[in-house]
Amino acid sequence: TARLFSGMQPSAESLHLGNYVGALLQWKKLQNDFDAIFCVVDLHAITVAQDPVKLREATRRTAAQYIAAGIDPESSILFVQSHVAAHPQLAWVLDTITGYGEAARMTQFKDKSQKQGADATTLGLFAYPVLMAADILLYNAEVVPVGDDQKQHVELTRDLATRFNSRFGDTFVVPEAKTLADGARIYDLQNPGSKMSKSGESPQGIVWLLDEPKAVAKKIKSAVTDTEREIRFDPKAKPGVSNLLSILSGVTGTPVAALEDHFAGKGYGDLKTETADAVVAEFEPVRTRALELLDDPAELDRLLAHNAERAAAIADETLRLAYDRVGLLPRV
Ligand code: ATP
Ligand code: MG
Repeated sequence: TARLFSGMQPSAESLHLGNYVGALLQWKKLQNDFDAIFCVVDLHAITVAQDPVKLREATRRTAAQYIAAGIDPESSILFVQSHVAAHPQLAWVLDTITGYGEAARMTQFKDKSQKQGADATTLGLFAYPVLMAADILLYNAEVVPVGDDQKQHVELTRDLATRFNSRFGDTFVVPEAKTLADGARIYDLQNPGSKMSKSGESPQGIVWLLDEPKAVAKKIKSAVTDTEREIRFDPKAKPGVSNLLSILSGVTGTPVAALEDHFAGKGYGDLKTETADAVVAEFEPVRTRALELLDDPAELDRLLAHNAERAAAIADETLRLAYDRVGLLPRV
């Protein structure tokens, strides 16, 4: 079976409905078809300022939500990036074959650094995509599921792998990005022109995986729609309604076209009620399980340590080979 690698940054309180439909649900399916490795990328998180106490807790909470959502930490590998030292070690080697201009062209870096200003922008943020390349290449991953915003980073990973291989001899597998279907993108309920994002501005527009069921239902029932009455999927003309259809389709697995038929002649109230019910039903067991896991942090930490060992067994071998190829003297 082909190897798959994907990662997500730790999120402070909770993951949101967009992360759930766009990442966790996809991962849960993919883990049946691939030799899957999932990572909570805490080293990426510190490329912007973090509160240390909150970061540690966010890392646990994110891992707990992966497991609660159905990522199997036995058949798949689920680990914390900073637990495997090979990540920054390989990143350093890759840094030395990455062009300054090449890194400066990354749009995520350009956006974030522009917002922060030159003095607040760190070398870490600049090198972020190279660390991501190390994450992927260490595991010989063939497939990397990512959102559109990360596609350019996977392109860079491919370039670096190819460059290293041609300079030093065949070492890395050249991976492919796997981007998600359109319907898997979820938008802010209050502002359906922007994607649902943890850094979003409308608290009522974001549904958190760990929200109380009542709060989940309330947010969905207050979603912005439009003044027409027809329920059809048309993201340009009807972003709010289309978003609700995407959400309902995402959590139930029913294709959007079948939902359009189902709602023919019905009103927005029906769409909202059914969507709210479906999301509450989907989230409730996940929330309960996540809170259970978080109730015993020592047990969760042990599980993560065990998974880090499994990840390191693969990563250390790739790192050793890469060090050898560039001519670093092995420590005997
Ligand atoms: P930020 O605002 O900091 O970028 P985010 O909410 O976009 O945060 P990320 O950590 O960037 O979350 O993304 C984690 C994963 O969730 C990625 O795989 C990303 O593609 C997916 N994802 C994030 N937001 C959405 C969304 N609105 N719809 C579908 N998938 C999403
Ligand atoms: Mg994002």
